[in-house]
Amino acid sequence: MKKKQILWFRRDLRVEDSALLHHTNGEVLPIFIFDKNILDKLPKDDKRVSFIYKSVLGLKKQLQTIGLDLAIFYGYPKDIFQTLKNGFDEVLCSCDFDAYATQRDKEIEDILPLKRFYDSYLIHPSHSLKDDETPYKVFTPFYKNLMPLWDCSSIEEYQISQNMSLIDYKFPNTPTLEELGFQTQLFPKFLEKSGFELLNEFIPKLENYQEARDYFYLDGTSKLAVHLRFGLISPKQVFNKIKKYPHSEFFIRELFWREFYNSILYHFPKSEFENFNGKEITWNQNKEYFKAWCQGNTGVPIIDAAMRHLNQTGLMHNRLRMIVASFLTKNLFLPWKWGEEYFAKKLLDYDASSNIGSWQWGASIGADSVPYFRVFNPYSQSKKFDKHGIFIKSVIKEFQRIEPKLFHIENGVQSNLFVDYIPIIVNIKNSRADAIEKFKMLN
Ligand SMILES: Cc1cc2nc3c(=O)[nH]c(=O)nc-3n(C[C@H](O)[C@H](O)[C@H](O)COP(=O)(O)OP(=O)(O)OC[C@H]3O[C@@H](n4cnc5c(N)ncnc54)[C@H](O)[C@@H]3O)c2cc1C
Repeated sequence: MKKKQILWFRRDLRVEDSALLHHTNGEVLPIFIFDKNILDKLPKDDKRVSFIYKSVLGLKKQLQTIGLDLAIFYGYPKDIFQTLKNGFDEVLCSCDFDAYATQRDKEIEDILPLKRFYDSYLIHPSHSLKDDETPYKVFTPFYKNLMPLWDCSSIEEYQISQNMSLIDYKFPNTPTLEELGFQTQLFPKFLEKSGFELLNEFIPKLENYQEARDYFYLDGTSKLAVHLRFGLISPKQVFNKIKKYPHSEFFIRELFWREFYNSILYHFPKSEFENFNGKEITWNQNKEYFKAWCQGNTGVPIIDAAMRHLNQTGLMHNRLRMIVASFLTKNLFLPWKWGEEYFAKKLLDYDASSNIGSWQWGASIGADSVPYFRVFNPYSQSKKFDKHGIFIKSVIKEFQRIEPKLFHIENGVQSNLFVDYIPIIVNIKNSRADAIEKFKMLN
């Protein structure tokens, strides 16, 4: 007898290469839930909700083209499944490993059997272990262990099942974004494009990716992180397409960092809240410093431009993320978790495992992280990667007439009499030395 299945779309908002649409063989009800547990905590102008809303409506249309549809709910997942449980045998969904998702799924499993599929990443963390069956804690051997993936012509992608039909169901009215309590937001232009459009635009840039990816005023990266985060394109689709091109290895390495951090969070779930290396650090608790960092009022042009840009757009280039993370955890010596949580609120591409792993990397307390004595000097970084101040000036309008070399000297902009700029909140050299001293005592 055909099963009655709920296909619960979460962070896999696509029809192509969809594990759910591949594994189904019954009468199905595809659903998406705007989860009150998550939405109630977010500000009305949250950009991600606007983006997800648009993407969910896009998924509904795509499903209609293959004879299905999407029931869109707004509420608490537990309540929604209580109302659905009598008509269905099981729920199909893709895996999600962060603390909230794990707890949520446990509760749903008490209501209906949950069949999980793994399609937000290339490999399941339990399939990439060392010879002694323990997880990798260092990136390079983890990466090398995945080399066999290169040898197959492509990783098999899921095909849409021919053996399914839409269940007879009275669909709820799709709530408007306003009914969810949010206002429509403008996104950066590139987010109007599909994942495949971005991928195709990026291919000619592959050759220079390794060099160009660090220059934040250049458009040298794929900009695929948001699409990957919400599953608008699958990592398999990206990997299969890109590996056929010359010069793709460096890019694939970056994709594997995403896998590595996912594996770390899967095997070491406590690292969401605790230092991965187990070292106890007495961080400063200076709320004023933290506020200055969040608002982009530290007096360091590159830090301030990066943070103001994040606040305005929900975006931050990888190199800038490394610079502001180093400044927060080393120069200000504030807890990495504060920075991680702030990014979680602001980043359009926020992904728990990559964000936690990268923050711990920057704070020198994570898996395979930057050595504690390598503290980024924000002035040398802006001199190297934004010599002419193109990015800084694009964000901080009052700097238009400032000579770029002043951006790369401590208190340089402050010395210009025509601009009234915030005094720097910490001395870079002294704060660096203090941080190294504190870390040295732990090691
Ligand atoms: C402090 C900090 C926080 C971060 N938080 C996140 C986050 O919440 N979500 C997120 O997706 N990435 C995060 N990153 C990693 C990286 O900054 C972004 O993935 C990248 O900037 C996205 O831009 P892109 O798609 O153009 O990247 P590209 O350079 O084109 O890279 C391609 C893809 O590889 C993956 N990738 C690249 N670099 C990394 C990395 N260092 N770690 C893990 N995956 C990587 C991403 O999926 C990315 O889309 C963080 C990095 C730092 C230093």
